[in-house]
Amino acid sequence: MPELDQKVAQALSDMSAREARRDGTRGIRERVPAALERYPEIQSRVRAIKERALARLPELVNEAENHLLAHGFHVFRADDAEAARQYVLSHTPPESLIIKSKSNLAKEMHLPEALEAHGHRLVETDLGDHINQLLGRRSGHVLMPALGVDIPTIQHVFRERFDEPEIGPEPTDLVQAARRHLRPLLESATVSVSGANAVTAAGEIVLMENEGNIRAVTSLPSIHFVIVGVHKVVETLEEGLAVVQAASLYGIGQDLGNYCTILAGPGRDAGPEVHVVLVDDGRLKAIAQEPEPFYCINCGSCLNVCPVYAEMGESYGGERLGGIGIMQTFLLDGAEQATADGLDLCLGCQRCIPACPSAIDTPGITNRLKASRAIKPHAAMRRRFLRLVLSRGELTLARAVFRTSAQLGISRRWHRRGQRAEDFIPVPDRTRPIPAGASFPAIHGARGTVWLYPGCVMDAWYAGIHEATIAVLMQNGFTVRIPATKTCCGALHAHAGEPDPLPELLAKNAAAFPGEDPIIMNSAGCGAFLKQHEGPLQARVRDLSEFLLEAGLKPPSRPIHRRVAYHNPCHLRFAQGIHDAPQALLQAVGYALVPVDEREACCGSAGTYNLEFPTLAWRLAREKAEDLTQGQPDVIATANPGCLMQIRAGVESLDGQMAVVHWVELLREAYGGVRS
Ligand code: SF4
Ligand code: SF4
Repeated sequence: MPELDQKVAQALSDMSAREARRDGTRGIRERVPAALERYPEIQSRVRAIKERALARLPELVNEAENHLLAHGFHVFRADDAEAARQYVLSHTPPESLIIKSKSNLAKEMHLPEALEAHGHRLVETDLGDHINQLLGRRSGHVLMPALGVDIPTIQHVFRERFDEPEIGPEPTDLVQAARRHLRPLLESATVSVSGANAVTAAGEIVLMENEGNIRAVTSLPSIHFVIVGVHKVVETLEEGLAVVQAASLYGIGQDLGNYCTILAGPGRDAGPEVHVVLVDDGRLKAIAQEPEPFYCINCGSCLNVCPVYAEMGESYGGERLGGIGIMQTFLLDGAEQATADGLDLCLGCQRCIPACPSAIDTPGITNRLKASRAIKPHAAMRRRFLRLVLSRGELTLARAVFRTSAQLGISRRWHRRGQRAEDFIPVPDRTRPIPAGASFPAIHGARGTVWLYPGCVMDAWYAGIHEATIAVLMQNGFTVRIPATKTCCGALHAHAGEPDPLPELLAKNAAAFPGEDPIIMNSAGCGAFLKQHEGPLQARVRDLSEFLLEAGLKPPSRPIHRRVAYHNPCHLRFAQGIHDAPQALLQAVGYALVPVDEREACCGSAGTYNLEFPTLAWRLAREKAEDLTQGQPDVIATANPGCLMQIRAGVESLDGQMAVVHWVELLREAYGGVRS
């Protein structure tokens, strides 16, 4: 089994860690939106701060260095991790007791291991890091390092290592025990290490925390090291404070951390000797090439919403976690390492973009990086095959090829324990593709003309949805035109990391829809793709739901009073910002919406993802199906062909008989038509 598949399989097998992660992030996911409502400008502000700072970073780092020196700090510019480690080692007295607070960079460059290898004793003082240190475990999250470790494990290791057999299982018991154990160490340490949330060009170091350990770490020992990447430099103290506030809002849903420390020089909130180690290690070069991944302020919010992280935890990534960490690794350590860490595992669901204080486009940049990577010939062939089969809608061929390859044992990686790629291949509806160049006149009073975007997968596999779309638009007074040339939008190609045909496809699409009439999309994925790619069509593309809601729905001929569970596709909700238009339309024709716990939202379809990573996609499909069926609806509806086939597979795996349809098919019923 290839290494990445092994990594996925191993991560998925640990269900207790998965549940602990889910419980640990659920509260934050619920808290953050309410907290952000109080600061509507914070995302655009942080994005602007980071854009400005990174655009003139070399100059800002020089300014920061000069001002730090003027404030009495020692400053070392480390070209690479080894230079940084050597600097710290050479300025640490022999056999020191070193206390350390959270620093993802220090972890990344293996500073704790280097210090311990040289005879020092290093004690992690962040509670999560301390738990990991006792367990010999790597960090599971940038902000909550012990996420994924359950309470009984923590209780057991504390009882054993603190020699306190009576420690109780309540969080307060565990925190009190850690405090009792750490306090004498904090008081007797002579050296300390911390990170920094921001460094200002005026020479201040800004740190925020909730536990109070950072303040002790920076102020009590006589020698302190601040380990900070050069990308953390910002222009002003006000900006540094905005960054830490954003980290708190997005990271834990709290207005501010409990403690904010500003180090303005040794002896002022810090010990007498403070060394600031400004680590480049390829950052300046990488930022010149692709700055956006370095807008990251390490709040961990993207991990809290990422469906891949939810399933795989720290196995989604390497030294750096999640989609953002893998992109940084690509730029700092190369494509091979990033690929091994899971570059291809990103679903492209876009959930992390609105969840990020810097609005980093992780899925978009990931696709670009994938496209720039030289891939192995067999992988390239496999992708081209998938793309060809799917984008041409050659369903019969696809099913035959998958079945034959299973019988011959050729593609074993796709066929494990009933979680085969072919399980995701849809049963097409019986409708023939909509004729190219056709026009369907409005009924009941003309309100205008629209184009219907036929696409490839929708047209070949789900033409019945097109029929329903045409019928509903006609009933609502719109003439519907079908282009003479049907072309794929290019989304599948982009997701597979193959950008070459995109300009060609975009040009073909532009030529296929002359005039100014709106282009109606009933596939969320295609709609998102065309809206997000510059071109003459961009402004005319409308999702069917937003179009109908704005136009105003005509009253249906026979309202339907049934219960529907609706899954909002990631490419509608996160990529197009359409939260509730389909639900509103369903309610308008009589349907009652059954509440659904969105859980990790993505159903796991994501282009060819369910064919490339069927085990992970299968897990997501089943969880989605469990959520959707929990309220025992009469029918399940969604708005994207990929989601449709994925959820149908999930429902079938639960032995469910429930129909899974496109929401427009339910609207058609209300106008007197039948579902295909
Ligand atoms: S796009 Fe989705 S899968 Fe990819 S990193 Fe973002 S949240 Fe995770
Ligand atoms: S990418 Fe954005 S959301 Fe994720 S850790 Fe960085 S700043 Fe936070």
